[in-house]
Amino acid sequence: MNVLLLGSGGREHALAWKLKQSPKLKELIIAPGNAGTAQLGTNIDVDPNNFDAVKEIALSHNIDMLVVGPEEPLVRGVKDFFLNDPKLAHISVIGPGKRGARLEGSKEFSKDFMLRYGIPTAKYTSVTLQTMDKGIAFLEKMKSPYVLKADGLAAGKGVLIIDDLEQAKTELKTMLEGKFGQASQKVVIEEFLDGIELSVFVLTDGSAYVVFPEAKDYKRIGEGDKGLNTGGMGAVSPVSFADEAFMKKVHRKIIRPTITGLYADEIPYKGFIFIGIIKVDNKPYVIEYNVRLGDPETEVILPRVKGDLLELLEATAAKELRKCSIEFEPDTVTTVVTVSGGYPDKYEKGKEITGLDKLTDGMAFHAGTKLQNGKVLTNGGRVMALSAYGKNRKEALAQSYKNAAAINYEGIYYRKDIGFDL
Ligand code: ATP
Repeated sequence: MNVLLLGSGGREHALAWKLKQSPKLKELIIAPGNAGTAQLGTNIDVDPNNFDAVKEIALSHNIDMLVVGPEEPLVRGVKDFFLNDPKLAHISVIGPGKRGARLEGSKEFSKDFMLRYGIPTAKYTSVTLQTMDKGIAFLEKMKSPYVLKADGLAAGKGVLIIDDLEQAKTELKTMLEGKFGQASQKVVIEEFLDGIELSVFVLTDGSAYVVFPEAKDYKRIGEGDKGLNTGGMGAVSPVSFADEAFMKKVHRKIIRPTITGLYADEIPYKGFIFIGIIKVDNKPYVIEYNVRLGDPETEVILPRVKGDLLELLEATAAKELRKCSIEFEPDTVTTVVTVSGGYPDKYEKGKEITGLDKLTDGMAFHAGTKLQNGKVLTNGGRVMALSAYGKNRKEALAQSYKNAAAINYEGIYYRKDIGFDL
């Protein structure tokens, strides 16, 4: 089978690594990929949002399956583009169509969906500039802190958590007046939930589903979860506070109603759903849906999945997931992300990465890297994700940190406390 994988991060390197283990894989193309994926398949330097260019690759390489890593092509409708083109319609696409992608692309849509199907989530209201008064009244009824969310995609920056009521009112106005462009023409205002977060990953064919291992990621740049938000500085799987009883609740109250809700709404969905969950008083609430795998969570969950990922994806495309089961490695997997100096603010690219040949056990997933004249250079904010197995969290982290310490580039930074709160 020939597979085209869209994306260029650590998530895509981990997907490529897992797909490559399948005896069913013939050719693997990654667009655009990074220096890590170049070792597993052929990188083609194409923007995943340029659907015409993606089409050209699909046709010239006889692609059988398109696996979409990031959300943007999905929200822009890459699946619909393939389905509606007679030359591409035979290609299986892993990822939802435009309607399903609204679960991530519109926070108002996803909140309304949860409300409709009784899925536990924070109380909310959704407003536009015309209905701002309703938003102000809602804020006045809420307790501090106040949560304001741009409805549309805002590269992870569209959520503000504000302590002061007057400041929250001012920010609401600024957002509605275009702080995040079109993405904040609508704003969801939410009740603040005080708890501990985890991520749950489901692969569904629209009716049957399998649940991947859960993970916890660390979003803030600084140790002790301080400082600015990032794409993710590390992750751990399994998650100690997600015990069997809690995960049963997640299945019953969240996963099942999500899948049946999509079915009831007649939204065909073949792909991953990433559910951001917060545990409050031992009860799970949904913070957000994403319509693809997470990064860096993928770098800890795929190493824990036994068996053939491509087989699971094939079954998803054929709507035969009910015949499949999924087994996990009992080991813990951790990942530590190294970033460029200055990230998540301004940072430089193009620094040579050394020490990659000195890594011992584990998987060194590339995120923002590129190959140039035989050298591996930094090419993004998040640079490497150093994943490792261990009998327990401590052992896995020791190995992730050993590998993080072995590599070097100008300005390298990583958090030393991943897993500190588990
Ligand atoms: P991501 O970068 O994860 O894609 P996003 O921009 O889609 O983020 P959310 O996941 O909805 O936005 O929110 C970002 C973060 O803000 C969450 O991971 C969580 O830590 C915090 N958060 C969001 N909603 C709430 C809430 N109602 N109560 C408490 N914290 C919240």
